[in-house]
Amino acid sequence: MSVYDSIRFTVAIDGPAAAGKGTIARGLADHFGLAYLDTGLLYRTVAAKALGGHDPITAASELIPSDMTSQTLRSPQVTQMASKVAVIPEVRAALLVFQKNFASQDGGSVLDGRDIGTMICPEAQIKIFITASVEIRAKRRFGELQNSGSKTTFKKVLKDIKERDKRDITRIEAPLKPACDAYILDTSKLSIVTSLQKAIDFTSEAYVKAIKFNH
Ligand code: C5P
Repeated sequence: MSVYDSIRFTVAIDGPAAAGKGTIARGLADHFGLAYLDTGLLYRTVAAKALGGHDPITAASELIPSDMTSQTLRSPQVTQMASKVAVIPEVRAALLVFQKNFASQDGGSVLDGRDIGTMICPEAQIKIFITASVEIRAKRRFGELQNSGSKTTFKKVLKDIKERDKRDITRIEAPLKPACDAYILDTSKLSIVTSLQKAIDFTSEAYVKAIKFNH
């Protein structure tokens, strides 16, 4: 077993929809050789089950990783429903253990979501809050949807993102907000390459420290 296999190192990435979280979190995981969890997929999976008539709390407590691979999890209906089931405290509580276990695995991890730095991994060595203006985020999401053949309009995408932001920011349980010790990375005017490089630079020193500590 190498020093890298047993390292304890967690990177918590949070931020609103379409700010670039997923791309940056995956890029960091690849760069540092860490495991990656997109926690939005957990809520999306529960949402898909709720749309299929299941009780969301039961769905959250019975969730298994193989449920999280369905192609339909990115549909607009599932996306809106995800932020609705995410306000239910029992759903969040049921998904907490899965996320905490993932975060504490040997070898280190990167998790992205809305409450990783504040609730799931407040002890993470690195916390990054990734944001961008709502118009830029809607423009990016609209481009992705157009590329995937969707016939939606920019106006509709902007409205959906604003609605989701509002639900995520104003909910009582684990609202979307930066942890007080998070590095704020505004990607509005940055390319993805520059944004990822900034996140890597910010993470490097703590990662080297974690390896030395483990040695
Ligand atoms: O990140 P993604 O857009 O896939 O997340 C879908 C929804 O799941 C979010 O709008 C949010 O309501 C919810 N979510 C959450 N906490 C997380 C991850 C996602 O509440 N850690």
